Order: sequence, then structure tokens, then C-alpha cells
Amino acid sequence: MLRGADAIPMPIRGEPPLVTRFAPSPSGYLHIGHAYSALFGYEAARLSGGRFMLRIEDIDTQRCRVEFERAIFEDLTWLGLPWHGEPLRQSTSMQRYADALGRLQALGVIYPCFCTRKQIRVEVEQSGRAPHGPNAELVYPGICRDIAPVESGRRIEQGEPFAWRLDLRKALALTGPLAWYDCRAGWVEAEPELLGDPILARKDTPTSYHLAVVLDDHLQGVNLVTRGEDLFHATHIHRVLQALLEIEPPRYYHHNLVADSRGERLAKRNRAITLRHLRDIGRTPADIWKLIGLKQHS
Ligand code: GLU
Repeated sequence: MLRGADAIPMPIRGEPPLVTRFAPSPSGYLHIGHAYSALFGYEAARLSGGRFMLRIEDIDTQRCRVEFERAIFEDLTWLGLPWHGEPLRQSTSMQRYADALGRLQALGVIYPCFCTRKQIRVEVEQSGRAPHGPNAELVYPGICRDIAPVESGRRIEQGEPFAWRLDLRKALALTGPLAWYDCRAGWVEAEPELLGDPILARKDTPTSYHLAVVLDDHLQGVNLVTRGEDLFHATHIHRVLQALLEIEPPRYYHHNLVADSRGERLAKRNRAITLRHLRDIGRTPADIWKLIGLKQHS
């Protein structure tokens, strides 16, 4: 089922024990891909005598549900993966995110963006430039980047909805070239331009995935971020935010994604591979570990 073998990183002599985390969004039931990610992080922490932290990434209030959050706790408990301390809930951390956004604003590296998705799509189509990032996402073409502050101030005052974006040109002028360490890929030069100016606060929330994850990994003391390789390129952005916010970067391990029998990525909407369903039809945690190709911890 797996595309290639991952190796759980072993502690390095003389280095502090590993602090890892599992950070699911409660927008659906966990599936065997999540089990892989959770076990991977859990084992890395356990083998080094470190800590495995849990974070509930619930900033998207439209899609997140308490029922799914409860299921996360139940499923991890069933799998035998205890986490350290209280889980960190992003929905209760909004002030902390807003404060960090304020720091970035004071640095002059963020700007309000009034674009709708449709406007961005039309602009990208008309410009004829390479429109997509590494995961086929639309790369923001910078439409609002150069709006004069007086003009954007006026639009905000009039109640026009806006998001905050990071101005990568200004940010990189402050930070200079950056790199981050991935246990599989080695030293990686940060190339945040691949994704375009990212959103740091959405129209309806004072944060976004990128800002929250950087702040929370730091707050939770995470020194090894273990997550799926679909988020490899997001790390370019995270490295820039760490530099701007003077946060020590953790190390990373972007692991394989569990694929289905046709080699396709597992989707949350596919009920058949949820841990809940597998448990209901009598599968045991040992069966799950066998299915995902990792040994159950002893
Ligand atoms: N919340 C993300 C997800 O459920 C994971 C984010 C991360 O590990 O950085 O896919």
C-alpha cells in the first residue's frame, strides 16, 4: 500500500529527546492515512524518550465539528497512542495568532487582499503565466500587493472583506536566503515563491493554516515536525514566518502518504477506510498497523 519505506528517525546522541505532534483537523473521521502519520510521530517521540503532542486544527469553523474532535480522541486511544498533556485547540488561540499578525504588520510585510477566488482565477488565466504551484494550487499573482495604503484603508473602512497576505518580496528582503532540514531530503533551500504570497489571515479568521502551525509547533515545543509529504512545500512558507517571528526552526520529516489500491491519495470522504468503520467491522489496531506497513509499538 505504501509508495516507499519511511524510516522512523532515531534519536541522535547528545541531542534532546524528540517532541513530535499529530495535528488533525476535525472535519471528518480519521482514516488509515492519519493512523500512519500519528503512529510515525508517536514512535519517533517514544524511541527517543520524548513527547508526542496533540493539536486540534479547528480554525475552519464551517467544516470542523465537535463530533469529529471526539472521534479523534477515541480513535487515538483505541490505537494505543497516548498524547502528552492537554491537546492544543487552535480555535481557542485566536488572540495569540492576532498578536503575531500584528508583529508582521509592524514589520511591514503583510498587505490586505480583497480578491475573491474567482478574480484570482480570471487574472491567472488572462496573464498566461505558469499559474500553478507544486500541488497544482493557484499561485496568487499579486493583484492587491501594490494597492496604496490609503486606498486599502479606505476599502477596509467601507467594510469590504479582506484577507492578509505575506508580501514575499519584502519578507525575503528582511530575512535573506533561508534553508530548513528534512530528515529524508536533507538541507532544503527555502523557495516560498513557488506558492506565491500566502494568506496569513483569512477573511473570517485572524489566522490561516500557515501562521497557526508555525506558532503552535513552537508553543508546543515541537522539535521534529512529522507530517505527510503533501505539505513539503508549505514548509518553505513556514521557514520564512519562523525567521520573521524569530522562532527557532524545528527539523522536519515529510513522510509518505498512504495510497489506495489504485495508488491514489486517501480522501476523508471515503468512509470505508476510516478507523471508525474498520473498528466497527472487527479490525484490531494490529490489523491497522499491518495494513499501513508499520509495526505496532511494543
Ligand atoms: N491539519 C493538517 C491536516 O489535517 C495537518 C497539518 C500539519 O501537520 O502541519 O492535514
